[in-house]
Amino acid sequence: MRYVSTRGAAPDLSFEDAMLTGLARDGGLYVPAEIPTLGQGDIAAMAGLSYEEIAFRVMRPFIGDTFTDAEFADLIDKAYAGFGHAARAPLKQLQPNHYLLELFHGPTLAFKDFAMQLIGQLFQAALSRRGDRVTIVGATSGDTGSAAMEAFRGLDNVDVFILFPHGRVSEVQRRQMTTVTEANTHALALTGDFDDCQARLKDMFNHFEFRDRVKLAGVNSINWARVLAQVVYYFSAAVSLGAPLRPVSFCVPTGNFGDIFAGYIAKKMGLPIAQLIIATNQNDILHRAMVSSAYTTEGVTPSISPSMDIQVSSNFERALFDAYGRDGNAVAQLMDELKSGGGFKISQGAMQALRESFASGRASEAETSAMIKRAVPEMGELLCPHSAVGVHVAQDFQSAVPLVTLATAHPAKFPDAVEAAAGTRPPLPARMADLFDRPERVQRVENDLTAIEAVIEEGVFA
Ligand SMILES: *Cc1c(COP(=O)(O)O)cnc(C)c1O
Repeated sequence: MRYVSTRGAAPDLSFEDAMLTGLARDGGLYVPAEIPTLGQGDIAAMAGLSYEEIAFRVMRPFIGDTFTDAEFADLIDKAYAGFGHAARAPLKQLQPNHYLLELFHGPTLAFKDFAMQLIGQLFQAALSRRGDRVTIVGATSGDTGSAAMEAFRGLDNVDVFILFPHGRVSEVQRRQMTTVTEANTHALALTGDFDDCQARLKDMFNHFEFRDRVKLAGVNSINWARVLAQVVYYFSAAVSLGAPLRPVSFCVPTGNFGDIFAGYIAKKMGLPIAQLIIATNQNDILHRAMVSSAYTTEGVTPSISPSMDIQVSSNFERALFDAYGRDGNAVAQLMDELKSGGGFKISQGAMQALRESFASGRASEAETSAMIKRAVPEMGELLCPHSAVGVHVAQDFQSAVPLVTLATAHPAKFPDAVEAAAGTRPPLPARMADLFDRPERVQRVENDLTAIEAVIEEGVFA
């Protein structure tokens, strides 16, 4: 299995190298050269299997000879052993024919744990076999950072640095990063917003001298292995609801397009998905692009669903690559226009392809709060604000096809917003009840590449 860059000018890589590299050297994102498919019989045979067994069957065709079957099965088992629910991704019914996929039973209470816990295992296995080490730098809107630090803390061959926007993550999110005690983890509070964090991370990857010196690796959702890990729960949910015989739709609260792109891959693999619905908050560049064909950045307005406060949606590049017939030059040109002019127009042909694959909707702040409030008496559910964005958008898409909305975080991760909307303060699960008593460790950094690189080098070579 070979991986190619969405900008067509970086070398093809194996699964292992694509995973350890993150961003391609031409600035593009790695995608499989072709998507393996599973037959109806393969999908039907997943009925009744454990999450781990489904994970093995879904991901195995993508990893080539990076791991043996026994190694890979073992790494999957270890990845999900720390989850607080035996089903890993349980489904709960909200309304007639509308279900919630609970993706918040991992160690940091957001869906990021599904990918990050697995990546931690895969990195450790691959690096110790090579006798190598890497420096992981991640940008986070709140949840990726804590999930990465949790997954990589204490590992010998990895240092982790997480850039988060100072003052723009919830207190629980911040504390989940700043209270990790292992010396190989570093929380960096950047003066700026998430897009600044993501932009400096991209700059670092494009600064080859630094990249090579510290052996930079990325675990943001630009990392293909993360997208792959997220494909699994589309299968587990759909099979629970009758796939492959019955099609299923998914409504996905999204910002960086990672989670919903995983659903697109599941569909291309042969899972009968009727609709894939993009649900955005008021930072709705994706919804506007779907409606108007113009992908235009407008700056971020902070919301109560901060993990989706994003304007430059990295993984959308992967969808564009397919929509433009896998023409890396065309994608590179669009990304140049984005960088120089703040946006681009999507061609008619590409737009048609995107609309065949995705529907979209948005929830304003008022609509999100109203949904959190309504869901308690009507659905018996205390929703996190991100999940509420999804459930709100889902109301417009209900049909005879079962609809699954992804619950991307536990409400206790965003207690202030949930309490303000619903009047109930969600308690932290018992296993992290002492979070507010633990000492914090954090470094402030300016929105300046040289300054950030200096902090990282000091940490790596200390
Ligand atoms: C990361 C995150 C999202 C957005 O995920 P994408 O991969 O950007 O689509 C939504 N909700 C929560 C809680 C998150 O942590």
